Amino acid sequence: MMGADARKVGSVDGNTIIHHEREVKVMKTPESGDVGLTPPPNFIRSIVSEDVNTGKNGGKVITRFPPEPNGYLHIGHAKSICLNFGLAAEFGGHCNLRFDDTNPSKEEQEYVDSIMEDVRWLGFDWGDRLYYASDYFERLYEFAEALIKKGKAFVCDLTFDQMREYRGTLNTPGKESPYRNRPVEENLDLFRRMRSGEFPDGSKTLRAKIDMSSGNINMRDPVMYRIKHEEHQRSGSKWCIYPMYDYAHGQSDSLEGVTHSICTMEYEDHRPLYDWYLDELGAYHPRQCEFARLNLSNTVLSKRRLLRLVNEGHVAGWSDPRMPTLAGMRRRGYTPEAIRNLCERIGVGKKESLVDMGMLEFCVREDLNKRAPRVMGVLRPLKVVIDNYPEGKGEYLDAINNPEDPGAGKRKVPFSRELYIEQEDFMEAPPKQFFRLAPGREVRLRYAYFIRCESVVKGPDSGEIAEIHCTYDPATRGGDSPDGRKVKATLHWVSAERSIPAVVRLYDSLFVNANPNDVGEGEDFISYLNPNSLEILTSCRVEPSLSEAIPGGHYQFERIGYFTADAVDSKPGKPVFNRIVTLKDEWVKIQKAEKK
Ligand code: ATP
Ligand code: MG
Repeated sequence: MMGADARKVGSVDGNTIIHHEREVKVMKTPESGDVGLTPPPNFIRSIVSEDVNTGKNGGKVITRFPPEPNGYLHIGHAKSICLNFGLAAEFGGHCNLRFDDTNPSKEEQEYVDSIMEDVRWLGFDWGDRLYYASDYFERLYEFAEALIKKGKAFVCDLTFDQMREYRGTLNTPGKESPYRNRPVEENLDLFRRMRSGEFPDGSKTLRAKIDMSSGNINMRDPVMYRIKHEEHQRSGSKWCIYPMYDYAHGQSDSLEGVTHSICTMEYEDHRPLYDWYLDELGAYHPRQCEFARLNLSNTVLSKRRLLRLVNEGHVAGWSDPRMPTLAGMRRRGYTPEAIRNLCERIGVGKKESLVDMGMLEFCVREDLNKRAPRVMGVLRPLKVVIDNYPEGKGEYLDAINNPEDPGAGKRKVPFSRELYIEQEDFMEAPPKQFFRLAPGREVRLRYAYFIRCESVVKGPDSGEIAEIHCTYDPATRGGDSPDGRKVKATLHWVSAERSIPAVVRLYDSLFVNANPNDVGEGEDFISYLNPNSLEILTSCRVEPSLSEAIPGGHYQFERIGYFTADAVDSKPGKPVFNRIVTLKDEWVKIQKAEKK
C-alpha cells in the first residue's frame, strides 16, 4: 500500500496521515487534541546538514528568500520563508531578503513594503541583508557584455511572436534565429545602443546562444534582456533594458554567495540554464534544491489570481480576512506561531500536495487555545427574563479567564434579571437530540445559575419568539447545584443592561471548491467563489470587558469560536470582531447533525 520510504506520521480517527517524500497524499485535518505528529521529513535539511558536516563552503550556510515585488505574500510564501530563514538559523548562517525586481511593469513599492512587514510579522529578521536584484543591474550588464565577447550571446531582431514560432515544441526542435551569427562587434554595438535607448520596446532582445535543439526548452537561446522604456521603482529611468528573471536570478544568488538556493519545483528545468550562465561566466555556483510548493484547499495561491480577486472587487483588497495572504491572515486573527507550526508540520517534499485548510485551522486553534482569554458574547440574541430575580438587582460573578492558563486569573461578569442567550440555544419544540433550553427544562448558565424555562412570549404579529421567561435557583450560584442535580447543557449568556453591542463578521472559505485551481476547460476559477464567505452580524451583545478589546487581540467566545478585534475597525466601546475559526467541537457537532 505504501511505498518503501513512505512514513506513517499519525493516525487520527481512522484517518491515516501519510507523508511521503515523493508521493504526498492529501493531508487531512487532525480531528481533535494534540495528535503527537512528529515532524515529517525535510530532505533539504538533510542536504544542508550533510554539506555543513562535510565542510562544504567552509561549513557556512547562506540562504535567501527572493520574492518578486508584484503582489502580497501568501501562505505558500510562508513555507519558503520558514524553510529559508529556518535553515539559516538552525545552522548558524544567514538568510538574505532579496527582491527580484526585474520587471518594472508589475512591481510597486507598496508590495516591497508589505513583503518586509509580513516577513517580520512571521518572526524572521534579515538583519542588514536586504538586497535588490536591481542593485546588480550594472554587474549583470557587464556579465552580458562578457558573454557577448565570448560569442555566447547575440542581439536578435525577431519579435516575441516570431521567437515563439522559432522556439519549437516539446517534441520538435526549435529553429535558429537568422540573427544568431552576428559578429561579436556588431552584437556589442547593438547591445550598447539598446542600453542607450536607441530602439523601441520589443524591437530587439539579447539572447544566450545555447542550443535550439535542446530537449529543455529553457536552453533554446533564452532571452537575457528586453527593451522596456519604463520607470523602475528603484532605478528610475536609468535603464531601458531589463534582465529576464532567469538571467538575473542565478547571478544574483552567486553574487551574494548563497550556498543553498532553495526554490520550488518549477525551477528544476531552469537549473541547467542557471548553471550554464554561471559556468560561462566562471562564477561561483550555489547549490539549488527544489521542493514542492504548498497548495491549500478552498483557496488560490497564485499572485496572478489573487490580483484578479483584488482588482475585480471580489474581496476588499489584499488584506481582506478571507485572503490567503499573510496580510489577510493577520487581519483575520491567525497567528504567526500557527502559520510557522503548519509549515513545520506539512514537511518538505518533492511531490505537490493539497493541504486541507482544516490543518491550518487546527494549528490556529492549538495556539489560541493556550493564550486566548475566554469571554462571553452572544451573536444572535434572545432575551431571557428571570421572573424570580429581584428587579433592579445586579451582581458580579467570577469567570475564569483561561482554564488552560491558571495564571490568567479570573474576572467579574455582571448578572441581571434580563439576559441574552443565543437564539439557537432555545427550542420551543426540541427534537430528541437537542439538550439545550426548552420549555420546562433546566440548564446551567456558565459561571452563574441554573435556570428553568417557564414560558415563551411571542410577537403579536410575527408569531416569532420575542423573549422567554425563566426562574433561577439561587442555591446554584457559580453554576453548581448543592443537591447534585444534573443538567445537560451549559449556555453562555450576557446581561441585557450591562453588555455592550458589537459587530461580528463571520468568515467562511473563499471558495466552495476544494481545489479552485483545478478548473475545467473554459471555466473560470472565479465561478467557484463562495457567495457566503462573509456574513456580518450587527446586533451582537458581548460582555462589558470587551469594551476595551485590544485591536488585533485574540479572544475565545465561549462555545462559539476564536475571534479577533479587527485591527482597523474596532474602537473602544464599539468593538468589531472577526471570527478567526470556529471551535472544533461545535463544527464536529454541526457536521454530525447535518448527516442525520
Ligand atoms: P506566484 O504566486 O504567482 O506563483 P511566485 O511564487 O513566483 O508567484 P515569487 O515572488 O517569485 O512569487 O516567490 C518568492 C519565493 O516564494 C520563490 O522562491 C517561490 O519559489 C516561493 N513560493 C511561491 N509560492 C510558493 C508556494 N505556494 N509554496 C512554496 N513556496 C512558494
Ligand atoms: Mg516566481
